[in-house]
Amino acid sequence: MIKKRYILNFPSQSGDKAFSYHLVKDYDIRINILKAEVYPGKKGSLLLELHGKKENIEKGVDYLTNHNIKCESLDKAIHLEEDKCIDCGNCTAVCFAGSLTMNRDTWKLEFDKDKCVVCELCIPACPLNLFTIDFR
Ligand code: SF4
Ligand code: SF4
Repeated sequence: MIKKRYILNFPSQSGDKAFSYHLVKDYDIRINILKAEVYPGKKGSLLLELHGKKENIEKGVDYLTNHNIKCESLDKAIHLEEDKCIDCGNCTAVCFAGSLTMNRDTWKLEFDKDKCVVCELCIPACPLNLFTIDFR
């Protein structure tokens, strides 16, 4: 079993199709929707985590691609040199995903990697250049 993250982009005509039903029923894939911007009848995008057998995930992605859903694999992650952080909070202002937040009790930066959508906005926001992209 593996876990993989994908960004799915739907054309307007397929945004409301029940693709998740097929991934679960036909390919035995568990789906965790991390972020969604889908509006009926319009273009949309989803950030998904797929959990299942490698070959089933590949088949599921083929299924989506064959139905005009663009799947972009997220094989990269953001790395933070936490020990050098001065807790200035600059990066929290650009992190729309809520992955970077200030702890209101300690005023220390907290980094929740599970919420990160690898938008890369924090990289230029840090005055100490503490963020880098980790290509897996
Ligand atoms: S890459 Fe984007 S989502 Fe991830 S920590 Fe940086 S700003 Fe937040
Ligand atoms: S911008 Fe850099 S130094 Fe400031 S809180 Fe974020 S990671 Fe730490």
